[in-house]
Amino acid sequence: MTFTFATASRIIFGPRTSDNLGTYAKEFGSPVLLVHGRSGERMDAIAGRLKEAGVRSVSFQVAHEPTVESVDQAASLARGEHCRAVVAVGGGSVLDAGKAAAALAVNPGNVREYLEVIGKGKALTQKPLPLIALPTTAGTGSEVTKNAVIGSPADGVKVSLRSDFMYPALAVVDPILTHSLPRELTITTGLDALTQLVEAFVSGDANPLTSALSREGIIRAWRALPRAVGNGKDAEAREEMSLASLLSGIVLANAKLGAVHGFAGPLGGMTGAAHGALCAALLPAVLEANAQALISRAPDSPEAARFEELAGLLTGHVSARAAESSERVRTLCASWAVPGLRQLGFRPADFKTAVEKAKKASSMQGNPIQLTDEELHSILEASY
Ligand code: NAD
Repeated sequence: MTFTFATASRIIFGPRTSDNLGTYAKEFGSPVLLVHGRSGERMDAIAGRLKEAGVRSVSFQVAHEPTVESVDQAASLARGEHCRAVVAVGGGSVLDAGKAAAALAVNPGNVREYLEVIGKGKALTQKPLPLIALPTTAGTGSEVTKNAVIGSPADGVKVSLRSDFMYPALAVVDPILTHSLPRELTITTGLDALTQLVEAFVSGDANPLTSALSREGIIRAWRALPRAVGNGKDAEAREEMSLASLLSGIVLANAKLGAVHGFAGPLGGMTGAAHGALCAALLPAVLEANAQALISRAPDSPEAARFEELAGLLTGHVSARAAESSERVRTLCASWAVPGLRQLGFRPADFKTAVEKAKKASSMQGNPIQLTDEELHSILEASY
């Protein structure tokens, strides 16, 4: 058995932990680049906390999922203002923009040179500015991962900037920041966290640490997500989802993902649809295709056994069959009327291109079994 395991340098979890942001940020120096989303009200409070602690902040707003242009702009601002650290408060889009800006602020050139797939994949040579990440969705787990997903509209794709240097210095996970998430975003971001936990659990790169954390996260997310969707003010359910999302980030950084994320990157680039919504649309069909492929081509593999265990976790019956996972997830998604790929703007004429792009995506390498082009095509049809 050989594996490595890494995560953010420090994790602070719990309701109201973000109240102490000023004290935490002070350790890293002033000024900081404050990367945030559209919520002006929340940002005033955050900037106020930094100011009270004597930390000057330079604001950068991220309105959508980050692009090569927005990351280069944020990095240039951080460089120009001689920022000592980056504080990112928002969903995965904001955290990723902050993470990439922290890296590019101290490394030469623009972000494209460092990107997988569409760039030169250059390695970072300098340690990024310290990043303090405060997630407001639950979510992506980006507060504890070493990659930032960045869109290139010109190439119609989303790809990762990835480096062992890019783990955040501090993740402050305050579940109260997620209470304002509307129902639809609670569903799609929550299903993204569940997908990450499931894909890392059945991945061929899982190790005993990631497996233990994935199990814990799957059980918590499966129980809490319907409650958080039913009542966004259910503090206990929000807390459980924030924890599940955190666990999903820890496991995705240490075990690879799979076909849902293999497709979600290219489809996000091709349609502009939100990442969580794409994951939610794809998860049932990917689970089904993987279960069938494992049963027919590798029934005695550890990955097939993992699928049976997953079914046990989702059904509460240890004797559950591998195929039951997809049935359970499909029923849950149907009860929330999760939109299919058609409603997310995807067209059948693009199936072939999507399959080609997905095969090249780094996440696809973690899928528990290599799927054929026909199986990948069927996933898109079934998710349509
Ligand atoms: P997001 O950050 O794109 O946010 C979605 C929407 O939710 C935005 O309109 C945002 O303003 C709003 N929002 C965020 N928090 C809110 C709150 N508390 N209340 C009300 N509205 C709120 O969504 P996301 O799913 O968190 O992040 C998606 C991005 O993260 C994608 O680009 C995806 O590729 C990336 N991602 C990164 C990683 C990683 O490890 N780096 C992992 C998974 C996904």
